[in-house]
Amino acid sequence: MALQYKNKINKIRGFALGLIFAGMILMYLGLFFKGTEWAMVTLMMLGVIAIIFSTVVYFWIGMLSTKAVVVTCPSCEKQTKMLGRVDACMHCRQPLTMDRSLEGKEFDERYNSKKHQKELEQ
Ligand SMILES: [Zn+2]
Repeated sequence: MALQYKNKINKIRGFALGLIFAGMILMYLGLFFKGTEWAMVTLMMLGVIAIIFSTVVYFWIGMLSTKAVVVTCPSCEKQTKMLGRVDACMHCRQPLTMDRSLEGKEFDERYNSKKHQKELEQ
């Protein structure tokens, strides 16, 4: 069974895109409630909030991207950005690690968590 792990930046980007669509759908639904003012206003507001939130998420990705490390994927030889100690390639989802001690180990998203790290040390 192939591990479906996504690159973090791609994952957040997908989330932000989903929010924009959700916002547009909510506003579109609001148009069907022209007769019921409170329902229309509520849906429109939710739609606007979703779109504003997605803008914030996009801004956050921009911030994260500056901290991301650009590496060349050993598997597809394309350049990819990674966050944290372990991440996946943006193009082929090859698991990548920044930590030599984790090389060759089973891929585990928990390596990014500080809590899990402490548990291992004990
Ligand atoms: Zn790759």
